Amino acid sequence: MNAPRRTKIVCSIGPASQDVESLVALIEAGMNVARVNMSHGTYAEHTITIENVREAAKRTGQIIGILGDLCGPKLRITGLPARLHLVKPGDQFILSEGEPEEVPQKLTITSLGVLGEVAVGESIAFADGAVRGVIEGISDEGVSVLVTQGGSLAMRKGVNLPDSHLSIPAMTDKDFADASFLLEHAIDFLALSFVGGPQDLTLAREFIRSHATTQNTPRLVAKIERRDALGHIGDIIDVADAVMVARGDLGVEIPVEEVPIEQKRIIHMANARGKMVITATQMLESMISAPTPTRAEASDVANAILDGTDAIMLSAETAVGSYPVDAVGQMDRIARATEGIVSDQSLTLLTHPTRTIHSTADAIGSAAADLSRHLLLKVVIAVTESGHSARTISRYRPSVPILGATPDSFAARSLTLSYGVIPVVIPRSPSTEVMIQEAIENAIDLHLCVSGDLCALVAGIPFGVRGTTNLIKVQIVGEGFLSITDRYQDD
Ligand code: PGA
Ligand code: MN
Repeated sequence: MNAPRRTKIVCSIGPASQDVESLVALIEAGMNVARVNMSHGTYAEHTITIENVREAAKRTGQIIGILGDLCGPKLRITGLPARLHLVKPGDQFILSEGEPEEVPQKLTITSLGVLGEVAVGESIAFADGAVRGVIEGISDEGVSVLVTQGGSLAMRKGVNLPDSHLSIPAMTDKDFADASFLLEHAIDFLALSFVGGPQDLTLAREFIRSHATTQNTPRLVAKIERRDALGHIGDIIDVADAVMVARGDLGVEIPVEEVPIEQKRIIHMANARGKMVITATQMLESMISAPTPTRAEASDVANAILDGTDAIMLSAETAVGSYPVDAVGQMDRIARATEGIVSDQSLTLLTHPTRTIHSTADAIGSAAADLSRHLLLKVVIAVTESGHSARTISRYRPSVPILGATPDSFAARSLTLSYGVIPVVIPRSPSTEVMIQEAIENAIDLHLCVSGDLCALVAGIPFGVRGTTNLIKVQIVGEGFLSITDRYQDD
């Protein structure tokens, strides 16, 4: 039996993977979280995808999270005169936000009011940076652009304004409607695209609070893909539950050579603040059309894990690619190979910053991680109502798996992005001891430990009060909760 993989895998679901059979295959290959991308598809299609993910999770008996990803204020080409299908350096054209039919001679983009905020001399990029230009002038007619890097343009291709300070919020009218739809479907994580600062997350939280019908509200993921966001990264991480290193748009907004260092900086800061972090985009890009990755891609996945990421994400590879299941299987194998080395040399190769201790829960999480190394534990078992104890232990990166045992299935799904946590749902019991026993039995069933092994138990007593983590006990598996652990008794 292989050790469980610690790094979580997020798969974008699309035409190549949205039926139940494909989703079952993705789960069996190692998917932990399914990403529903609101940039494509209709509500009817997304509803089917969400239902299919839940059916596939049921069939496989696995706990699978659902991440709803809002488009945000992504600018796209909405009107393109024929003469601009291919542009070369020195070409000029007028850009406007008007309705395309009214301005056939202009290149028009999504109408979000951004062109009122650009300045002469700022740069503009089209089609993922394939075409670049500079803003030469601004008049009543529109914004005039001088092409500096030529290439081909097409309708719906993306537009980025990397130098501009845009005040548009990260949630558009479409995003509010999409967020309502996703809340109705009780998704587990909600990602905000093109976050500019912490206020975007505060606004999303207020919206969720006023629209949610249950206290099980999704955890918020801030996608870091604007230069402006890098200037407020600490504040953004503080108010988000998780961040995504969204390298696709980030690599257009900042020079591509700066992306690797920003990735390390964002992951480092998320680790230090105890927040989850996903590394995304082009991880196994060549597997969209090939059954094996390039060496560079394999290294990229491994390096994101060495940087300290909680999760790695597949985009087109699983949404529209020809080898979605192979891509997940490949990620799984790279992650296991990387983690195997990391845990052999646990303290030398992997010295990530961990969150400083602010609470009893933090102190216990940190103690569990220390105990895992000093006592060579086999597993840390958290019996948790909201998932909080398990998440806290994950922040301190113990050297062994964390079993997150909870009677609440929403709490279990909320753990699907956390590094090293294996969520399980256990029956609710009025007796904490019974629940602890149930959790230990699950750990044995999952081959995380056998009778006679040493484990640590973490819980909050009284059980059922959310967010109280106040108990840690080292125990020999197979002996009663109140037995004395005498293997390491003092002389
Ligand atoms: P997207 O976000 O796939 O929604 O654009 C990820 C990225 O930009 O990297
Ligand atoms: Mn993006």
